[in-house]
Amino acid sequence: MARVLYRLTAAPARIADIGYVMPGTLTQRHTRCGTPTCRCHADPPQLHGPYWQWTSKVNGKAVTRRQAKHKPTQV
Ligand SMILES: [Zn+2]
Repeated sequence: MARVLYRLTAAPARIADIGYVMPGTLTQRHTRCGTPTCRCHADPPQLHGPYWQWTSKVNGKAVTRRQAKHKPTQV
């Protein structure tokens, strides 16, 4: 167990690969992209998402990870 914790601490970038195993805050967000003709700028707007955003502190530093269900470039 100590070995696993060490590897998590040493490679926080891999947290997104192995799943949200660290304590943190998971929030759902809807966003607009930068394409003016996209549906997210229509009336009524259809925002992109939901995106899951996970925020925590690793080694005293704030860490944010996003997981997209669909990419705006594929719309
Ligand atoms: Zn868009």
